[in-house]
Amino acid sequence: MSIPYQDYYEILGVDRNATDKEIKSAYRKLARKWHPDLYSGKDKEKAEEKIKQINEAYEVLSDKEKREKYDRLGANWRMGEDFYPPPDMEDFQFFTGTGTTGFSDFFEAIFGSGFGRRARASRPRGAVRGQDVEYELELTLEEAYRGGEKTLQVSSNEVCHACAGTGFDGRSFCPRCGGTGVTPSRKTLAVKIPAGVTDGSKIRLKGQGGEGLDGGERGDLYLKVRILPHSIYKILGSDLEVEITLRPEQAVLGDRVTVPTLDGPVIMKVPAGTRAGRRLRLKGKGLPYRGGRGDQYVLIKIDIPEHITAEEEQLYRRLAEIKKGV
Ligand SMILES: [Zn+2]
Repeated sequence: MSIPYQDYYEILGVDRNATDKEIKSAYRKLARKWHPDLYSGKDKEKAEEKIKQINEAYEVLSDKEKREKYDRLGANWRMGEDFYPPPDMEDFQFFTGTGTTGFSDFFEAIFGSGFGRRARASRPRGAVRGQDVEYELELTLEEAYRGGEKTLQVSSNEVCHACAGTGFDGRSFCPRCGGTGVTPSRKTLAVKIPAGVTDGSKIRLKGQGGEGLDGGERGDLYLKVRILPHSIYKILGSDLEVEITLRPEQAVLGDRVTVPTLDGPVIMKVPAGTRAGRRLRLKGKGLPYRGGRGDQYVLIKIDIPEHITAEEEQLYRRLAEIKKGV
């Protein structure tokens, strides 16, 4: 197998001992002269071919490491002859059909298609599935419990259509994506939230992730649920806890009090002699869990009234006398 020989010095029209400055200057002159925008029709095609060669020559000769490697190997070549790679060349690789990278087979043979910043162009051929993307989805406790629809904005990286994801436009970086091969895009999604999602669970949106390459299917979008702290409910796994504050006589005598739950307020019986710190249980009023529901706990607090009426004061005094045995 042989590859057409490329004389990069000849292409740029410079001496083999040319300085970096001379190479740069020669490149600039030629790049201006052969800019494809200055031509049309058949001439444009010719200019495009020419600029490709110029770019490639400059890519090698402007890079110290590449130029050294090229010069080292170049000692074995003679003008006009095809290049046969030396058998002892360790990192030598043949690439065929390298049309996607914009470099000649000769270049690919010496430097490989994964060289330096062009690594992106060396992805395996054939369809590549798009990336899976994960997003955090913040929900209030009520939203998580009831489910429903929520719209959210997500951004994802789409394959740059100007360079087909290679990041290169001929020899230079693709101006559209800045050489990254991807362009950011934002989209609004209407997401169906299943009732009873829990903190940390993931909702999968098939095919809403990153775009695939070469006909590969899109990745998936995962929404990781994060339930926001709640002003009333404390979330304890699948159980919930709320605090209620009783007056002393409610705690002593017992009462029926209204307690908020996710299903709306319920009347709860407080037994006589309920102490502060006691947790009363409302069975099955917690969060969905394994087909059932957790419980809701009601933590009892007792508050001492700051202001009391004269009549109330009399009653407290009477109570005090009874305790003293007066
Ligand atoms: Zn691009």
